[in-house]
Amino acid sequence: MASSKTLLITGVSSGFGRALAEQALAVGHRVVGTVRKAEAKREFESLSAAAFGRVLDVTDFDAIGGVVAEIEASVAPIDVLVNNAGYGHEGILEESPLSELRRQFDVNVFGAVAMMKAVLPFMRARRRGHILNITSMGGYITMPGIAYYCGSKFALEGISEALGKEVQPFNISVTAVAPGSFRTDWAGRSMVRTPRSIADYDPIFEPVRKARQEKSGKQLGDPRKAARAMLAAIDADSPPAHLLLGSDALGLVRTKLSALEDEIRAWEAVTVSTDGE
Ligand code: NAP
Repeated sequence: MASSKTLLITGVSSGFGRALAEQALAVGHRVVGTVRKAEAKREFESLSAAAFGRVLDVTDFDAIGGVVAEIEASVAPIDVLVNNAGYGHEGILEESPLSELRRQFDVNVFGAVAMMKAVLPFMRARRRGHILNITSMGGYITMPGIAYYCGSKFALEGISEALGKEVQPFNISVTAVAPGSFRTDWAGRSMVRTPRSIADYDPIFEPVRKARQEKSGKQLGDPRKAARAMLAAIDADSPPAHLLLGSDALGLVRTKLSALEDEIRAWEAVTVSTDGE
């Protein structure tokens, strides 16, 4: 392994966050993990003397700065921030209230950005740091019934890429990690599902919802292997700006990019027709 680092990972109670914390501890890193309950903090800290729990909901924006400053002062300087906390909203756009869009963006986007804004002054002062944002293949491809989720992950992809260009002069890397379908609690206990109300959408959405429920717990991806892939990116001298995880993500994203290229080509004459004299 390369040198030992201090990682701050949001959402270490299950899924990717827990898997990454365990693998990072196993190779000698120090891990500060956020959870939402005192009991989960105790359970996380029982993993190792190098595991430090902090209770934080990432939508408690006013608390984030204080928590990060306290970690910097009393645990160690944060080398790597992993914005992992997030959830999926499932629901047809016309059926889903705006309050669910706001909640989806509060957690998946505003929470992640608030965490980045809190660690950046420290990383910039040290001229060193790495931020990993767990986005999704849903930050590249879309499907009916997860418009709010895809919107939040497209947003985090774009923010990650632009931020990477802003902080590159300070030797800070930003990696947007986009997993395919993995065996976590994402499609189980964590998913927020808007109840159905408009029968017109039954044919397009009911099979998608049913398939996702049936597949939950049996997805192709192994979170422990995703954790090893993320550790490789953390150890890299030149970390990638984008990292897909899983052969499903690879196939679907490639198909999307090639369809996008085809559409751009088909409309190219119209596209270039708008330039001024
Ligand atoms: P998970 O097992 O449900 O884990 C989600 C974690 O996020 C939990 O620790 C949860 O804490 C935490 N969390 C949720 N809302 C939070 C909030 N407001 N404040 C703080 N923590 C919060 O699912 P997962 O798949 O590992 O999800 C991790 C990330 O991967 C998410 O961003 C998700 O969108 C993304 N992702 C997942 C997949 C997949 O197939 N699994 C694919 C692509 C991307 P609690 O235990 O307190 O609820």
